[in-house]
Amino acid sequence: MKPFSTADSRRLVIKVGSSLLIDEQGELNRGWLEGLAHDIAELHAQQKDLLVVSSGAIAIGSKVIGINKRRASLSELQAAAAAGQVQLAHAWSEALAKHDIQTAQILLTPEDTENRRRFLNARGTLGRLLEHRVVPIINENDTVTTEEIRYGDNDRLAARVAQLVMADGLLLLSDVDGLYRTDPTKDTSAEHIPEVRTIDDDIVGMAGETRSDIGTGGMATKVQAARIATHAGCATIIASGQIERPISALANGARHTVFIAEGTPAAVRKQWLVGVMKTRGRLMIDQGAAGALQNGKSLLPVGVVAANGSFQRGDVVTICDDAGKEIGRGLVEYDQSDAAKVAGSRSEGIEDKLGYRGATVMIHRDNLVVFD
Ligand code: GLU
Repeated sequence: MKPFSTADSRRLVIKVGSSLLIDEQGELNRGWLEGLAHDIAELHAQQKDLLVVSSGAIAIGSKVIGINKRRASLSELQAAAAAGQVQLAHAWSEALAKHDIQTAQILLTPEDTENRRRFLNARGTLGRLLEHRVVPIINENDTVTTEEIRYGDNDRLAARVAQLVMADGLLLLSDVDGLYRTDPTKDTSAEHIPEVRTIDDDIVGMAGETRSDIGTGGMATKVQAARIATHAGCATIIASGQIERPISALANGARHTVFIAEGTPAAVRKQWLVGVMKTRGRLMIDQGAAGALQNGKSLLPVGVVAANGSFQRGDVVTICDDAGKEIGRGLVEYDQSDAAKVAGSRSEGIEDKLGYRGATVMIHRDNLVVFD
């Protein structure tokens, strides 16, 4: 039995490396992109949620502004990324529009996926786009990230995105068709590893230091990405994109390495919530809301009776029933003062209470654990 394939995935993040999209002269490989867009359209028609993390802004932009990216300073690279990103996003939107698929551009920094407040905002935006069947085209926001705080490679960014949206599949398309025991560029008899169940020191060692010329991520960053994703319940595939229609090729048996997920995204998120030692506040809820939570629904402001503590949006809070018994916990969408203001309000009344349009949920069901 195949351990995991893109066909199994309900929500898939596809990461595309620079060396696939952009040739040595800094020109876009349009024909190749069209083939991939075809593959993406097929998955989209199967009602899967799809997100693309695309590199290539610096590679295209270096040509646009006329710099040699190997000798450029950080700010020159940032300038190149800014110029190239416009063209990159345009190329994606054109390629997918041919299949009547709408796209949206999202630029993220490591902070946006690590700071819980920003995490909720990014997650909310991506969630709405997917509901509207739009394919987000994501890249690092190179303008505002410095050397020390950059992801620097989109492999890890893609893994963080997978974690953010609770994807069950991450596909890393690059110029390598998976993990090898030794460097296949130096050793033609290198043994290919088709499946990895645990990313141990042996696997990390195999990843070594192989690098491709145009992109920035080598095998080491791919294995790091696989570690982040699999720990978040997301299976990861490393496959070659150096063929036409690479996703179809994969379905037809092209060589790849699959890293098996540890649990499901929902189970991992819940486990994490249970493990948080110190919650920042307490929401008391009424019986109707308690029943809704037992049925897997989100917690709405209307069901909240009181909000106590000194929590902020993105903190973990305890949920208790009207007898004061702790029945669950979750990541709250409001600061304490605003939570107290909207407690008991129906969605229509929230804007009046706050003076701005707040979240419709107090705690989203994906960010909630209910104790038995
Ligand atoms: N954000 C960079 C770009 O689009 C790419 C980083 C990477 O190569 O993964 O050019």
